[in-house]
Amino acid sequence: MILIFCSLLAIGTIGFTLLVRERDVPPAPVENAELNHLETRRQVLYENLKDLQFEYHQGKLSDDDYQSLKAGFLYDLAAVMDSIERLQIGRQTVKPYGKQPEKSAPLSAAAADHVCPSCGTVNAANNRFCGQCGKTLL
Ligand SMILES: [Zn+2]
Repeated sequence: MILIFCSLLAIGTIGFTLLVRERDVPPAPVENAELNHLETRRQVLYENLKDLQFEYHQGKLSDDDYQSLKAGFLYDLAAVMDSIERLQIGRQTVKPYGKQPEKSAPLSAAAADHVCPSCGTVNAANNRFCGQCGKTLL
């Protein structure tokens, strides 16, 4: 049953993509639409995470279910954030490599960067997103 649903979804997605491509859309609005789509998806994933946490605290989910579902949402969220970032970078004018500003912040400040500004969780140095709440770590 799930397989049938997935197949229909795939066919629907392909059909939709072909339908969109048939139309004569100028490049800029397409990019905006993609960004809007990604922003919407990010919002949906945030909502899902909130719902998930709510249901977990209500005791409707086992620890294992909660952890695996949360990991899945965070993984999707990271991918969406990445796409948004890439789209936004793509819009900026390309700067020459040599002129990028050097990061010379003191070590203590660098370590503080990995404390989540939203929930205060200390994350691993190479984490781009908070492991607890999914917020972007700068
Ligand atoms: Zn956090």
